[in-house]
Amino acid sequence: MSAKKTTKTAQELIDFESWTSEEIPNGAVCEDAGNSALYITGGWRSEMPLWTKDNCKDCMLCWVHCPDSSILVADGKMTGIDYDHCKGCGVCVIECKFEALEMVSESSDEARATAAAYEQEKGA
Ligand code: SF4
Ligand code: SF4
Repeated sequence: MSAKKTTKTAQELIDFESWTSEEIPNGAVCEDAGNSALYITGGWRSEMPLWTKDNCKDCMLCWVHCPDSSILVADGKMTGIDYDHCKGCGVCVIECKFEALEMVSESSDEARATAAAYEQEKGA
């Protein structure tokens, strides 16, 4: 749905307290539910979590706490990280008690190699 253009003057805009509810413009509101997957928020990261599968106990603590649903799981087991949407907050690394996750700089060789492998896997 596109935003309605306001026809108010600058003074009328300042006097917003006199607006009726119908006159208040939509602003930055997402009205269509379920669209978060369309936004590739992984580009916001400055650090990325790396997963060491051999250390992982599939406890799902990272999955529970990830604010972006970026821990990938299949059949009750962790399968990886959704780097298209992981914002690099580091919560999963703090929650993991088994040293299966660590944060590294996006510019590190490890991060670049992981990102390249992720892209390759997606394209496969
Ligand atoms: S760094 Fe944050 S957003 Fe990324 S997987 Fe971990 S908890 Fe989720
Ligand atoms: S918190 Fe650590 S051990 Fe548990 S599922 Fe996540 S990566 Fe694996």
